[in-house]
Amino acid sequence: MAKITYEKPIAELQGDEMTRILWDWIKEILIEPKVALKTEYYDLGLVHRDETDDEVTKEAGEAIKRLGVGVKCATITPNNQRLEEYKLKRLYPSPNGTIRAILDGTVFRTPILVKGITPYIPTWTKPITIARHAYGDVYKATDVRVENAAKAELLVTEADGREKRYPVFDFEGGGVLQGMHNTDKSISAFARSCFNFALDAKQDLWFGAKDTISKVYDGRFKAIFAEIFESEFKAAFEKAGIKYEYTLIDDCVARVVRSSGGMIWACKNYDGDVMSDMLATAFGSLAMMSSVLVSPDGNFEYEAAHGTVTRHYYKYRAGEETSTNPVATIFAWSGALRKRGETENNKALIGFADDLERATISTIESGYMTGDLAIIFKADGITPKKLNSRDFLEAIASDL
Ligand code: NAP
Ligand code: MG
Repeated sequence: MAKITYEKPIAELQGDEMTRILWDWIKEILIEPKVALKTEYYDLGLVHRDETDDEVTKEAGEAIKRLGVGVKCATITPNNQRLEEYKLKRLYPSPNGTIRAILDGTVFRTPILVKGITPYIPTWTKPITIARHAYGDVYKATDVRVENAAKAELLVTEADGREKRYPVFDFEGGGVLQGMHNTDKSISAFARSCFNFALDAKQDLWFGAKDTISKVYDGRFKAIFAEIFESEFKAAFEKAGIKYEYTLIDDCVARVVRSSGGMIWACKNYDGDVMSDMLATAFGSLAMMSSVLVSPDGNFEYEAAHGTVTRHYYKYRAGEETSTNPVATIFAWSGALRKRGETENNKALIGFADDLERATISTIESGYMTGDLAIIFKADGITPKKLNSRDFLEAIASDL
């Protein structure tokens, strides 16, 4: 059979460790037999980031902007231990941070539900999607170590040269200090993408922040969401029979736990980082969470929500068999291919993406899965069979 083709390339961002291995296997076993893949390839593996002084990460971000669709493998965010391990020239910033700063936007993370994997919170019968603001706050902050007694102030210099000073703290000895920011433009884009996503999914939107403590900073988020909702989305929400609600983040957490799911939960950058890992684990496994960054100018970057699974990689390198779950990475690829199919009105490509997801889910539901799922899988009459990563991919391929 002829392979499925499409016009415009997808930006392909290769990554690190175990997910780098899975990446090549997914292409070889599941995609390339059916699709004539056309990608612009960027190797974001730590070795190549170091060789290019991290230029490759910026080029990859720009490529997603230019091509409109990207798919990214998990990557190492180096720390001091990695600096030694990889003999790096310097400590590079998080590639996700760099790319999100280029694209702006919101990250939507939704659990991949399969029959037989019950969430730890049994009332969660519907998926909960986290909408994580992907720009600014602590991810683009200036971190300062204060060594001695010191007076810290914020200095804001306006375009006309006027200076405003705000006291922060009088240090008597050592300490730490952080300056962070966000912009009305980015917060507005965050709000609009959440309202649009909620309308599209026909699900309520909840937004939680901490404006009781952070009156100006989080207060600005709350106000922008309220203004945009009132002026642009209220009528459409009423028509769709869905609601928008602002709640304090701590109250939001408590209410989400007691809910049956089925809502979009908008979170500021840091809250979304933390809460999406909690949610993914509570829904069964970090490896069953899909993730897409939607930028305000309509670019899409698909990735898995988990990391490079270092512990499994060391076992793989030592020649041991590993059973690392490739599902979120498969869904990153299916998401990117479906989006490219949509931008080119390419039914064959969209159909392939749908089939790939269906085959992945039905393989698990018929009892074939990786180790992380096998220990929590429960379905009448089915004894889960733990496969290694490659055999699991082959099982999906034969279903496909
Ligand atoms: P991780 O790679 O997500 O793995 C944490 C643990 O979760 C694993 O040891 C494994 O548990 C389980 N796990 C995660 N994904 C799995 C999968 N696909 N299949 C089976 N089990 C899975 O997080 P980490 O160990 O904290 O971080 C490793 C590296 O990833 C770090 O260098 C970090 O910088 C990077 N990272 C990258 C991204 C990204 O690029 N988006 C995100 C997070 C972290 P068991 O060991 O118990 O089997
Ligand atoms: Mg995280």
